[in-house]
Amino acid sequence: MTFTTRFAPSPTGPLHLGHAYSAMLAFDLAQRAGGTFLLRIEDIDQSRARPQWEAQIFDDLAWLGLNWPEPVLRQSDNMKAYAQSLDNLWENNLLYQCDCTRRDIEEAANAPQEGVPSHGPDGLIYPGTCRAKHPRTGPRPKNVALRLDMATALATISGALSYTETGMDAGEIAIMDMPTTTGDIVLARRDMGTSYHLSVVIDDAAQDITHVIRGADLAEATQIHVILQHLLCLPTPIYHHHRLIRDDAGKRLAKRDDARAIAKYRAEGATPADIRQMLGLSPSLI
Ligand code: GLU
Repeated sequence: MTFTTRFAPSPTGPLHLGHAYSAMLAFDLAQRAGGTFLLRIEDIDQSRARPQWEAQIFDDLAWLGLNWPEPVLRQSDNMKAYAQSLDNLWENNLLYQCDCTRRDIEEAANAPQEGVPSHGPDGLIYPGTCRAKHPRTGPRPKNVALRLDMATALATISGALSYTETGMDAGEIAIMDMPTTTGDIVLARRDMGTSYHLSVVIDDAAQDITHVIRGADLAEATQIHVILQHLLCLPTPIYHHHRLIRDDAGKRLAKRDDARAIAKYRAEGATPADIRQMLGLSPSLI
């Protein structure tokens, strides 16, 4: 299959140097492989997504010298696909309704068991309060949070799970001990009807992504993605998690780091070549 990768920003703030690194690295690797670079707008959180941020993303990426096929996939246009997968998991008895608030979870997690981690890639590990509380029969409930029953889900998968990593800590990465390290993750948020983890695996498959190139902060979440791929009969791409771009104090850049926003460097007269140099990327291939 031809090398196909993507950059998948959420339009909830300005792109900063960390995003530029991810996007340019993915673009460069696609160019070198004679493959395709896609842009996907991850806007399932409609309470935070803004059209002006989306417009700025297109503008900054084009300024950096990147191009991509149109039209781009916008996750808010793909809600039907996420709902269908949720139906499928629900019918297989792998989801349950959860009405815990963040505070309920914090309180229940305040009495951790020795040797069991309290945090996973999705934050606090859910203590399972609602696992047996609501019936799992009948039509899938809407406008509620749905969690994956991880232990039951894993029991349906035969054989060992792993994925190929070509970035940091490259090798074949085995997926182990998911119930204790991630717990029952949320696959549909009450306010969104889906979740990052569910949407990202569905869209990577729908867009025939062969190589996922993204920051090392998402490496841990990849275990969840591989499990979902198996449950939904989707292929597992190759993953390449790259180093994170940090500020002078060594802190990872966040959306609110406007000081590192690409727009700011542009306004100050930097060129795309300057940005590449700043990030330690080789000069543009095109
Ligand atoms: N939308 C995610 C973000 O902005 C990236 C998802 C991914 O690359 O898998 O952090």
